Amino acid sequence: MAILFQSVTVLPMDGERKVLRDAFVAVEGERITHVGPTRPAGDFERVIDCAGLVMLPGFVNAHTHLPMTLMRGYGGGCDLHTWLNDYIFPAEARLDDKSVAAGTALGLAEMIASGVTCVADMYDHCDAIIGEILKAGLSANIARGVTLFTDDYSFDSFPGCVETQELTRRWNGYNNGQIKVDACVHGEYTSRPALWKDMGAWARENNLGMHVHVSETRSEHRECQERWGKTPIQVLDEYGVWDCGRALAAHCVYTTPEDWVIMKEKHISCVHNPWSNLKLGSGVAPIPAMVKAGVNVALGTDGMSSHNSADFFSDIKLAAVLHNGVGKDPSALSAWDALEMSTVRGAAALGRTDTGVIAPGKIADLILVDFTAPNLTPCHDEAENLVFAAHGSNVAMNMCRGRVIYEKGEFLTLDLEQIRAQVKESALPLVFGA
Ligand SMILES: [Zn+2]
Repeated sequence: MAILFQSVTVLPMDGERKVLRDAFVAVEGERITHVGPTRPAGDFERVIDCAGLVMLPGFVNAHTHLPMTLMRGYGGGCDLHTWLNDYIFPAEARLDDKSVAAGTALGLAEMIASGVTCVADMYDHCDAIIGEILKAGLSANIARGVTLFTDDYSFDSFPGCVETQELTRRWNGYNNGQIKVDACVHGEYTSRPALWKDMGAWARENNLGMHVHVSETRSEHRECQERWGKTPIQVLDEYGVWDCGRALAAHCVYTTPEDWVIMKEKHISCVHNPWSNLKLGSGVAPIPAMVKAGVNVALGTDGMSSHNSADFFSDIKLAAVLHNGVGKDPSALSAWDALEMSTVRGAAALGRTDTGVIAPGKIADLILVDFTAPNLTPCHDEAENLVFAAHGSNVAMNMCRGRVIYEKGEFLTLDLEQIRAQVKESALPLVFGA
């Protein structure tokens, strides 16, 4: 379907930090075909007048665990390790494909409504997650979270590794790259060197990215140093975990300048999860220093179990204000910095250089934000309003891969009533008891 957006204000996020006014943007099939001040030639099946609307690339949620939406608000008030061991792990043990699908669909609905077009997810029951992603219409990097607590192990028979291999064969690159598979080590503190070595090799041999939780809490980081005499980034580097050419390191709260040198050199992106880090009392990642050191930084929500809302605008706003406050510097992280982390830098982190930017030839992952809303009026500066004033309910349209999947509060690919019923009647009783 050919769609033309006219009279639109566009933040292309192409690195130049410019705003186009009264522009035309054309989309044909999954791609953007035209961006500019003049109307492109040709016929369009739909012409959308965008007066009062601002277009920008859809957001890339670079670290999440979609099915954990079922655990929103469960076990609140604990530190990470108590929360995981006493609440989350026992609940997760009861999940099945059906409940994972219901939790995923619910999480996706919330993200779509706040402008997310692409996610990097780490979890279990990945086929069920991919099924919901494809129904919803987003793009996703999917990683099977693998933990290993024994040395009696084989990569070809250990369940998480077998599933990673099957996922890679079945789904990596599916539908023109809509689905990508990332290799995964859940974290240094939840695995053994044999896994690091084998998973690193699997990623290299199959040209996959790598997704790992890194230095999220002080105790995790310190205990790793006591065990190995090195930080998590450094010890995983020794076993080849980062040698595949692209990796997502979620959290990075306690990473060091020496770690950042490795991260820059090995193309390891930091995924900043400020909400989750603050809620669990983990700390504040040194994002401005990492950016200065040349590390690519993306933004993530983490699971809804530790957030507890997937309004991506709240993450953008928090990332932007947090570092200014901590660093006592109003320019520590600018509005444009925060928007780039959420779009073009997130896309790069996921190995998706064909999205995250509004430009001809790119995948049409884009959103329209209603700037006639009271909280976005007046507008002296679009980037300032988007980062510090907007919220998810200002999203008027979400287009993923050239398809409108959400418009004016309506989900066009998801049946919200059915999702609610599946969560309430089937998933919650299974996981938490009737
Ligand atoms: Zn996580």
